[in-house]
Amino acid sequence: MEEVRYCPDCQLLGEEKCPNCGGTLRQAKPNDPVMLCKADAVRASMLEPLLTQAGIPYSKVGRMGAAMVMRAGAFLEEYTFYVPLGALEEAMELTMV
Ligand SMILES: [Zn+2]
Repeated sequence: MEEVRYCPDCQLLGEEKCPNCGGTLRQAKPNDPVMLCKADAVRASMLEPLLTQAGIPYSKVGRMGAAMVMRAGAFLEEYTFYVPLGALEEAMELTMV
């Protein structure tokens, strides 16, 4: 974990420069939020109890705004899950299924 570096702006891990913004990375901390995966509403509703049961704090960010969800229906929404870096490995194992 010593070599892992982190872009606080994009919440991405990298080695030298951020793969997204090209910015300088800093040393990653265990509580830095990192992207776990993207999931549609069906998969999101399966992932949430898994993470909750394992006691892993997560945040779920929707791609569309609330107004768009109303129009298109919540099942078309895509979510991005973020977990703390320290829990990423455990969360990935849980959600691999
Ligand atoms: Zn960045």
